[in-house]
Amino acid sequence: MKPIIDSHAHIDFPVFDDDRAALFENMHAVGIDKVLIPGVCPLQWQKQIAVARQYNCLYSLGIHPWYCETATVKNIEDLRDLLIRYKDDSQLVAVGECGLDKLHKSNFITQMNLFRVQVSLAKEFDLPLIIHVVKAHEEILKCLKSEKPSRKGVIHGFYGGPQLALQYVNLGYKLGIGGLLLNDNAPKLQQTVAELPVDSFVLETDSPAMAPKNGQNSYNTPLLLPDILNKMAHLQKKSSVLISEQMFSNVTQLFDL
Ligand SMILES: [Zn+2]
Repeated sequence: MKPIIDSHAHIDFPVFDDDRAALFENMHAVGIDKVLIPGVCPLQWQKQIAVARQYNCLYSLGIHPWYCETATVKNIEDLRDLLIRYKDDSQLVAVGECGLDKLHKSNFITQMNLFRVQVSLAKEFDLPLIIHVVKAHEEILKCLKSEKPSRKGVIHGFYGGPQLALQYVNLGYKLGIGGLLLNDNAPKLQQTVAELPVDSFVLETDSPAMAPKNGQNSYNTPLLLPDILNKMAHLQKKSSVLISEQMFSNVTQLFDL
């Protein structure tokens, strides 16, 4: 088996503060090599970078749509300054997570403006995007088609069917596949994973979000990754070893690791 990389885990969040070291030991024991820690809000950027340094992880910098209404012009300048400062840092691998979320109460126009700013930063710094999109696929696809960011990126926490999936894949984007795949009430997503080429996907957990219903903890951890990988292998009718090789190749290629 190739090492497993979690392409989306908020391992910097306070819920992990007490047992982060033990969690990384347990992850390494089951072949999970590292995680990508996505940016969510300016207050968290320094902690993200510190956790990434301590545990040899990857990180991205950005502002999540849930935080768009508190984001100021100064925050955007700070984001750009940090990207300039860390542009040669091999652990900084993307811009985001950024995007649009119609189920969140924050103003959609504000979300849209902040997403556009981050797409242009991804272009300026030649980095891929980590995109959060809920019920706003039309708007995101339209923006990606017109802006054409060269390094593309990942649609994280993808939940849609094959038709929607193909629209992203045909533009060169990967789909982040997480714990929802284990839920048999998500037949559209299972169909997507069964039908699309295996180079369309990267693995993620979105920890601490998406806690498994029957899990020991009230929060999710990257330790769920082998289950997601095995489910993907089952749906793709391929061996877990082969899927692990392909997932490693997809994530290293996307983030230029
Ligand atoms: Zn996230």
